[in-house]
Amino acid sequence: MENQTMMQYFEWYLPDDGLFWQRCMAQADRIRESGIKAVWLPPAYKGSSSADVGYGVYDLYDLGEFDQKGTIRTKYGTAEEYKAAVRTLQEKGIWVMADIVMNHRVGADRTEKVRAVPVNPENRNEVIGKEREIEAWTAYDFPGRGNTYSDFKWRSRHFDGTDFDAATGDKGVFRFAGKKWNEETDHQFGNYDYLMGADVDTDDPEVREELSRWGRWYYDQIHMDGLRLDAVKHISFEFMRDWLRDFRAHAGSSLFTVAEYWSADLSALLHYLEVTDYSLSLFDVPLHYNFFNAGNAEGSYDMRYLVSGSLTELYPDNAVTFVDNHDTEGGQALQSFVREWFKPLAYAVILLRKDGLPSVFYGDYYGIPANNTPPVFNLVKMVTIRKLYAYGEQRDYFDDPEIVGWTREGDDEHPWSGLAVLMSDGGDGSKKMLIGKKFAGARFMDIMEKCIDPVIIDEEGYGLFGTAGRNVAVWVTEEAYARVRVEV
Ligand code: CA
Repeated sequence: MENQTMMQYFEWYLPDDGLFWQRCMAQADRIRESGIKAVWLPPAYKGSSSADVGYGVYDLYDLGEFDQKGTIRTKYGTAEEYKAAVRTLQEKGIWVMADIVMNHRVGADRTEKVRAVPVNPENRNEVIGKEREIEAWTAYDFPGRGNTYSDFKWRSRHFDGTDFDAATGDKGVFRFAGKKWNEETDHQFGNYDYLMGADVDTDDPEVREELSRWGRWYYDQIHMDGLRLDAVKHISFEFMRDWLRDFRAHAGSSLFTVAEYWSADLSALLHYLEVTDYSLSLFDVPLHYNFFNAGNAEGSYDMRYLVSGSLTELYPDNAVTFVDNHDTEGGQALQSFVREWFKPLAYAVILLRKDGLPSVFYGDYYGIPANNTPPVFNLVKMVTIRKLYAYGEQRDYFDDPEIVGWTREGDDEHPWSGLAVLMSDGGDGSKKMLIGKKFAGARFMDIMEKCIDPVIIDEEGYGLFGTAGRNVAVWVTEEAYARVRVEV
């Protein structure tokens, strides 16, 4: 995936109009031309309502085909439209990545009486009450689908617990009698197996068989090129590893896979990579939090450490870098939206450095109308520059608390490749950086258009590159500059 870029092709607040798959189809040419190689599409299954973003899964087999939960279509459209969108994207040479949501189910058809114990939400290993009968939303009959594709009906025995007793209205975390939380999950709150809804028990043999069968069915329907695994810190690590191995065996390919292990604790990510045999990539959550903190610090962040402590630093081949996503948007579960002024700096880091596979967020690329959030300044240009010019040896200048940068020397395969990036979280400034002797006498221009005068490279290959304060400058050759201005 050298110099490829993926894109999270949705955000939380898309309109619930059922037209999204059609829009994907209409945008396919533009996506390809922009230099995006892979798109991660939203979860395509029927949620607990037609407005569900896709993570409140009701029925994994209903891609917008059956009259369930008051609607045939999902938030994004019908199953036929989904398949057509995937085909259209793939015909343009774009890889389609499917979002796999297996941790929980939401929106059961009926309640069941289940014996359960309440546990401490802050420490799920601690029982805080007597075992009693509760009324849990755990019966999934799928009346609209019947036995089409699968006759499996979810029952309370397929789940570990839930968060609501419909008989009393009590909320909390209830573990079902005879069940235990899976120990191979994240250790936050004692044990973070339970996230939401009815928690799927992946220790149950019927469940394992059913989820493997579903995976094979889903691949045969869609023939996706890659996967994004949701909420893996709440799912048995070995189950996920085995499920992915079986899925890949069925697909007959080592499908690119990125998992969402939402933790700023690098050691937790490293542990997950180890137990899954380095067979997948993880989102670089620590790097996201560096960006978030740097933006919030309003100039007092030590920029020398902007990429320190990241997954990309240690395991670049297993790191998917990102600035924001649907969960970090305002009002969402992991709200930590990077400040607007810092976004171009953060995107320069993920797009123009050599390590990590960058994932560009739809909400940053197109803006988020629901929040009056504009598109990130010049993000479209940076995606193009990555594809055309971000090649060759990288030299780092993370040597100042305020102004840091790097250069790429370019290579022979990519005409006019090579660039210099300088950014500041404080005032205006400049830095003498080596870009390569082959550029002696060449003129470089700032594609971000904040610095007007060209930089002329000296005989030793150095340039005195500048940046405006609270900004990033991206310096490319005069020829590259002219070409990008025409293309974007
Ligand atoms: Ca779980």
